[in-house]
Amino acid sequence: MKTRIFEIFTSIEGEGILYGTKTLFVRLAGCPYSCFYCDTLDALPLDSGKEYSIAEACNLIDRNLQDNTFKVNFTGGEPLIQYESVSELAKHVKAQGIPTYLESACFDSKKFLHVLPSIDFVKIEFKTIDSEFIDQQHHPELVRNTLECLQAAIEAKKTTYIKTVVSSKTEIASFKDLLDKIFKIASKENIAGFIIQPTTSISEPALEQLLEFYDAVYPYYNEVRVVPQLHKIISAP
Ligand code: SF4
Repeated sequence: MKTRIFEIFTSIEGEGILYGTKTLFVRLAGCPYSCFYCDTLDALPLDSGKEYSIAEACNLIDRNLQDNTFKVNFTGGEPLIQYESVSELAKHVKAQGIPTYLESACFDSKKFLHVLPSIDFVKIEFKTIDSEFIDQQHHPELVRNTLECLQAAIEAKKTTYIKTVVSSKTEIASFKDLLDKIFKIASKENIAGFIIQPTTSISEPALEQLLEFYDAVYPYYNEVRVVPQLHKIISAP
């Protein structure tokens, strides 16, 4: 088995419920999708980065692991494109007692289920229609898969949190529709957070919009947080 890694580096986690933690990022190459706010465009080509055997990639991770690393993130690109190799690499990291974290758009619940046993922290990202991740016609299928991933992560008792990126183009009606579906599965007892992440530098939502999104989530889950990408503020990669 081979894997393509675009880059590997240590930085400060800038998103989600574990922001501020020292993290080793393993950025897998390749993503066939097209979010308009994507900030890893160079890693989208499936042939970007460099190819490694699994043994070589494990060795690369070991060489890059610094002391006091809180977790190792498997990110992209879209890491589920290379789900089999992510599973092997995550097993290797877990065997050293270091927590693993998956950053995925959860577009394919079968691939997600393959990786899930090797992951400790699961970010379930719901892509809104306006993200342009996929066309409108295929969006319901994407949401169905993401909901299945959410259900599986909760049933597996993983530390699971939900993230949605919102922009000035995100419509509150479709956001509420998504919440209705999410909170048929999620509850205060079974998720560790709900993060509303505003886009940075591109179609940024106004404060009034952010408050509307917050108010929509609050009745379901009053631990909701609006958190911008910290790493962009401190100029980390
Ligand atoms: S899923 Fe992630 S990597 Fe792919 S286009 Fe969207 S933001 Fe970029």
